[in-house]
Amino acid sequence: MTEWCKIEEPESGQIKIRQMNRSPGTNTTEVKKKALELGFHKVGIAAVDREDVTQTQRLQAWLALGYGADMEWMANPKRQDIRQVMPEVQTIISVALNYYTPQKRPEGTEYAKISRYAWGRDYHKVMHKKLKTLTTWLQGLHEGIQARYYADTGPVQDKVWAQKAGIGWIAKNGNVITREYGSWVFLGEVLTNLQLESDRPHTEHCGSCTRCMEACPTGAITDPFVVDANRCIAYHTIENRDEELPETVAPHLQGWVAGCDICQEVCPWNQRFAKETDVAEFEPYAGNVAPKLVELAQISDQEWDRQFPASALRRIKPDMLRRNARANLNAFHQGKE
Ligand code: SF4
Ligand code: SF4
Repeated sequence: MTEWCKIEEPESGQIKIRQMNRSPGTNTTEVKKKALELGFHKVGIAAVDREDVTQTQRLQAWLALGYGADMEWMANPKRQDIRQVMPEVQTIISVALNYYTPQKRPEGTEYAKISRYAWGRDYHKVMHKKLKTLTTWLQGLHEGIQARYYADTGPVQDKVWAQKAGIGWIAKNGNVITREYGSWVFLGEVLTNLQLESDRPHTEHCGSCTRCMEACPTGAITDPFVVDANRCIAYHTIENRDEELPETVAPHLQGWVAGCDICQEVCPWNQRFAKETDVAEFEPYAGNVAPKLVELAQISDQEWDRQFPASALRRIKPDMLRRNARANLNAFHQGKE
């Protein structure tokens, strides 16, 4: 029978949990095996041992510049201190799921562009199902094990933890790039009080490349690793709820109505290492790869409801989608005048 021990830290009074007579490495192998069995494509471990001052300062500087626009959740103080999310946390289990499918968008200014991440089933549903299974399995190992999962839903700096856990590096365009799948991955994490063996943080491999910065049509990547949401098409098409898009963005949409993949599509890592996913749920829904701008500009609420079932696109309400499509049509017509 497996024996477990609880260890109370003298200074903080925190409870750590560890299996008797086993190294953290043995548990780590089992946790990673389980995550891969559940279909995650990458898994890594990061210890929560000290504050990462650099990352906290980066986030604070980004917020101070106003680059978070009105995404108030980015300023949640918990995001800067994982222990405020879960006081007992010792370890972050970081996972990545490849979502790339090889369909190509058609050429032609009549088509609306939807970001790849939203072509198929809502990734929250896919990630949560797998993360819940991993979390329940972990909790089932011993009654003292606490675990909680997130996938883009909580005040957790998922990219920072992914880099610390060796999943990939935070790139100049702000995405996490993996060596195996490029940046076409969803990230998730399990916070736990179980002690595991950490992976080495991933090194950064953008080098002297600046392709994403040059390709961004709005100049939103103001400096390497710094993306100003106020200028970003992805932010405005998904999060901005105003009646009209700002003049700094609307003329430069280039067909995008839901997100923007430009800075990922030009990335040499994505061009070389994108691999088709084996997750059937990410197969694009009919109509998501080549929708027409004129049709989206007048889509009714009922059609929107029918066309985007169980989709991450439901965050973009029908009036926002109509607005985004209309802005593209206007930009196109103005360009011709
Ligand atoms: S998502 Fe589009 S607008 Fe935003 S930084 Fe990337 S290329 Fe620029
Ligand atoms: S395009 Fe170049 S600089 Fe930008 S994320 Fe990719 S490798 Fe890094």
